[in-house]
Amino acid sequence: MYIRVLSSTLLIFLSLSCSVPPDRTPELNPDPSLLYAAHGQPGAWFNPWRPSNKHWTDLFRWAVSRSAYSGEWRDPPLVRRVDNDGSSFAAPEAAAAVTWVGHSTFAVHDTGDVFLTDPHFGKRALIPARFHPPGVPITSIPADAFAVVSHNHYDHLDAYTVEHLPQTVTWFVPLGLGEWIEKKGRKAVELDWWQSAQHGRWRVTCVPVQHWSQRIEQSRDSTLWCGWIVANAERTYFFAGDTGYFHGFTEIGKKFGPIDVAMIPVGAYEPRWIMHYSHLNPTEAYRAFLDLKARWMLPCHWGTFRLTDEPIDEPPRELQRVVEQAGGRLDSIKIFAVGERWEIPAGQ
Ligand SMILES: [Zn+2]
Ligand SMILES: [Zn+2]
Repeated sequence: MYIRVLSSTLLIFLSLSCSVPPDRTPELNPDPSLLYAAHGQPGAWFNPWRPSNKHWTDLFRWAVSRSAYSGEWRDPPLVRRVDNDGSSFAAPEAAAAVTWVGHSTFAVHDTGDVFLTDPHFGKRALIPARFHPPGVPITSIPADAFAVVSHNHYDHLDAYTVEHLPQTVTWFVPLGLGEWIEKKGRKAVELDWWQSAQHGRWRVTCVPVQHWSQRIEQSRDSTLWCGWIVANAERTYFFAGDTGYFHGFTEIGKKFGPIDVAMIPVGAYEPRWIMHYSHLNPTEAYRAFLDLKARWMLPCHWGTFRLTDEPIDEPPRELQRVVEQAGGRLDSIKIFAVGERWEIPAGQ
């Protein structure tokens, strides 16, 4: 009896690991009105244009079939890093500069203000460890900075960071995450998709993206996910957070354009059968950039935490290949070193 149970378990295990599983996600419905449709309620959110029906067995399947992808592995991976003590944040910029702290964390310094995207200065994203220290020290972030958070996954929302950034930082979060931030004694502004808040001279708007949410203390899809438009009279920034490809980029570009800087994730895309719903690959990220009609693309979500099957330094190489193949303009894509500070060129 024991042998039979064991052998049938082994058979299930082998059949799961040897086959590419069917993709059960429904097709994307590109009707723009679905971007504005009801998308759930507190505790249960969804993407109306393409509800996800991924099951926990898919994650199990991925776990047992891992390493199927054979990219070009280098040891150590090629992720450039430059020294930056963050001292430039102390004095106003003449115009604006963006610094890559790593993964999805950018520090945008626009004249006298600093804002952070998905700030993560911690050592781990739950389990995966950082490949390199943050591009600037956490202590360099000024007390009047503000932050936008896309969702609660551990590579985007980090408890250490919330606790160690100045208490005066204002946190813009999607619905359901405000209480988590406030429990840490921080100020949160919670917004639904398409809702805006004014913060000094900034207009901060929560926009839909195609993703999901979960962390240990927050069950699946119980808190919302989003991207952010952060704009002042001179410049408009778009931060995509974490997202799969969907028709929302065109709509966001139309509604808020012209967008100067688009921070778009390009990593964590293999294997495609499970990742395509929630993560752009470089081909899709470039397509999103074109849909947005933005001036500059700042690729992120690569090089810091190993989350999926592709080599951690593959996304920028692949992105370059994709742009060249499409005959696109490589000089509009800014692939940063960790810690690199880039001054946004004056308008044309
Ligand atoms: Zn995520
Ligand atoms: Zn992520």
